[in-house]
Amino acid sequence: MSTRKPFVGGNWKMNTNRSTGPDLVRAVADGVLAAEGVEVCVFPPFPYLLTIRSILRDRGSSLRLGAQDCCHQRDGAYTGEVSLDMLKDCGVQAVLVGHSERRHVMGEKDELINKKLRRVLEGSIEAILCVGETLEEREAGHQDIVNARQIKTALAEIPASLVERLIIAYEPVWAIGTGKTATPQDAQEAHQHIRELVGRTYSPDVAEKLRIIYGGSVKPDNAPDLFMQPDIDGGLIGGASLKSADFVAICKAAAEAASAKRSREGE
Ligand code: PEP
Repeated sequence: MSTRKPFVGGNWKMNTNRSTGPDLVRAVADGVLAAEGVEVCVFPPFPYLLTIRSILRDRGSSLRLGAQDCCHQRDGAYTGEVSLDMLKDCGVQAVLVGHSERRHVMGEKDELINKKLRRVLEGSIEAILCVGETLEEREAGHQDIVNARQIKTALAEIPASLVERLIIAYEPVWAIGTGKTATPQDAQEAHQHIRELVGRTYSPDVAEKLRIIYGGSVKPDNAPDLFMQPDIDGGLIGGASLKSADFVAICKAAAEAASAKRSREGE
């Protein structure tokens, strides 16, 4: 029986400010109390990490704190960059690596993403590695090839012992922020192929334990069907994470799907 705990991340991207961020996190922290058994993490912009952390601490919230990126270097002359140690110093527990906006807007390549991923996992922090194909690649039927290339390069020189802190987010680029979502069947197929690839790269046991989450225009109405798929272990949420009611509803859908899957497996 699967023991994977669902994960739902709220990627705030370059949104919120000193007033709206705290309001949002308070509402989310209260709302997710009803989503038992789900690991929920918010990813605010860098300048607000400390404020958000102190709100979560004051409330004794189990909500986790994440960062949207980090530098591949440890420290030094890297103007504008933020190191993993700085993030840890600010209470960050998880880091997004290789988000599609970093790949396609900022031009990050697979090799840089591998360095960032190693930095995060070797630093004992949870990493959410984002992968996914463009519309052109999907239309050419190349989604599995693209996902495999991104994952294999990202995981180069990463031992199985570090993979327990890894989550892979399958986020088809054409579905991010567009309102278009992969069908639950298409998403399941991609997740299954990713799990098989990780099984071949490491072991079936590592693959079975790995959480693979879906991202791309997840909303309260499509979340239940996506999360009910056997290989979908939660979601990475952009737009809908900025509306507390929507984000909380998505977290509850993850909790309900996990419980329904457990009953289904137990039958
Ligand atoms: C994301 O930022 O990872 C994302 C999936 O965004 P959205 O939910 O807005 O598509």
